[in-house]
Amino acid sequence: MVPRISLAAFLSLALAACATAPASPTVVPTAPPAIISKGMVSAADPRAAQAGVDVLRQGGNATDAAIAVMLALTVVEPQSSGIGGGGFYVRGGADGSVETIDGRETAPSAATPRWFLGPDGKPIPFKQAVASGLSIGVPGNLALAAEAHRRHGKLAWARLFEPAIRLARQGWTLSERGRAFLVRSKATAARSKAGAALFYDAKGEPLPAETLLTNPALASTLERIAKGGRKAFYEGEAGSQLAEIIAFDTQASNGVTARDISAYQAKPRDPVCGTYRAYRVCGMGPPSSGATTVLATLGQLERFDLSQLRADNPAFWHLFAESQRLAYADRERFLADGDFVTVPVAKLIDREYLTRRSALISLDSTMVKAEPGLEAPPPDGAEPPENGTSHFVVIDSVGTAVSYTSTIEGPFGSGLMHEGFYLNNELTDFSFEPEKGGAPVANRVQGGKRPRSSMAPTLVYGPDGRLVLAIGAAGGQTIPVQVARGIIAVIDWGLPVSEALAVPVLFAPEDTVIVEKGSALESMIPALQALGHAKVAAFALPLKTNVIVVTLGGLQGAGDPRSEGAAISE
Ligand code: GLU
Repeated sequence: MVPRISLAAFLSLALAACATAPASPTVVPTAPPAIISKGMVSAADPRAAQAGVDVLRQGGNATDAAIAVMLALTVVEPQSSGIGGGGFYVRGGADGSVETIDGRETAPSAATPRWFLGPDGKPIPFKQAVASGLSIGVPGNLALAAEAHRRHGKLAWARLFEPAIRLARQGWTLSERGRAFLVRSKATAARSKAGAALFYDAKGEPLPAETLLTNPALASTLERIAKGGRKAFYEGEAGSQLAEIIAFDTQASNGVTARDISAYQAKPRDPVCGTYRAYRVCGMGPPSSGATTVLATLGQLERFDLSQLRADNPAFWHLFAESQRLAYADRERFLADGDFVTVPVAKLIDREYLTRRSALISLDSTMVKAEPGLEAPPPDGAEPPENGTSHFVVIDSVGTAVSYTSTIEGPFGSGLMHEGFYLNNELTDFSFEPEKGGAPVANRVQGGKRPRSSMAPTLVYGPDGRLVLAIGAAGGQTIPVQVARGIIAVIDWGLPVSEALAVPVLFAPEDTVIVEKGSALESMIPALQALGHAKVAAFALPLKTNVIVVTLGGLQGAGDPRSEGAAISE
């Protein structure tokens, strides 16, 4: 008969066994390089993935296809991303070189740290901020696309617009999921007359699923930019009109100007690369907290042999929660736009530092509250939940990868529709409070600054230097956690892509643990409580990851089983 021991004792024995085992990477490609004869696109909507594949088939490369996907998503997934928002582009050459472009939105030059404070000096309610021009940053996606195309594009700029223009003119079918967004977020989606006319009937009801939708205004906008390039969006009449509509929607003293729009620059940034076991993990640095948070979460787990602790073991989820707590404590304090505040990126992902931080993780009890690990004036800022982003990945037939996350922040962004697309509410990613505890918050609003992001477009390279996977996600603050979970599932557990994305998510903000509702993690709540996690609850999390893995048999891609996402081969 098996002796009965308490759950806590069992977990601590299991953990102790794991901690003493040597950490070893599970998947180390040793065979000859995978033969990639055809490219692949993974995106949150199959019609957008197809747009990328069409461009690959016309001889386009990963950059061309990624731009086509971003444009097509503007049409078919208007709740999540588009040319009215911004994004981050991470490109990995077949030679292992990595570069990134920051197309994050900027605050108007007139913005001050008091941007989101009401007349009483207190932060205005989040919803009020979203539904006002105060939330709208200068869109960055088209400038990003133009810069990426200038550096790496192969096909003519106008050709990349063809699939999106076709979708907007000839129509696309409203999906069940798309309709659910229209029901849930009606106040935002129908805020502008143009949005209401596009997606709702005369009685204000969302159009039924399966309706063939068209967006002629967006088709014309895209045609204009296809012909005129980025200038046709940011400069002249177009730029002035954009400034006017945002300024008109914004409190008079805070108006964005045509100069704010025309001065927008997508910025090439150094990639942030670190290691996880024998792998090189590269992603987006400030203003994104993506790469540092993913690398810290993984790095602090490296001393545990996760190949022995799998997703069905509460011990893994305990460690995952503890590591997140440490990573997010540093994220809260330090991560913001590095052009405005000093972000100690190298220190935050330093191996020795992460080893010291990891020592704070106890095998059999929770730390409950994690403090940041570096000394500094404590800038801090709370970030509200989000749900308006799309990640996509392209790997082309020569093995170049693009991992691109595109966003308008919340569902349908600010709700302000202009020329057929929604304008973002990205500025609500800033801290509403300019200071805390008497010290300025790193992520406070400042003129021309980019709000902190969680977006984490990521590339992972194997010990032999070859690309292993390209991954990223949507879902606000859960993004780095989803990405870390995907990397562990592929690297430590050796799961095939579709299974890797089906692994549930546990998110541990501050002293709470949120397990994905409806997942196997719900049954582990008592085990987590036994380890001292007092505030554990199951919630529906906004999860949407897209990934492509390079295997010896070729490319394997997947969309998140919780979404309509799909991976399509060239
Ligand atoms: N705006 C968020 C960010 O940049 C992402 C929003 C989402 O994924 O829902 O971190």
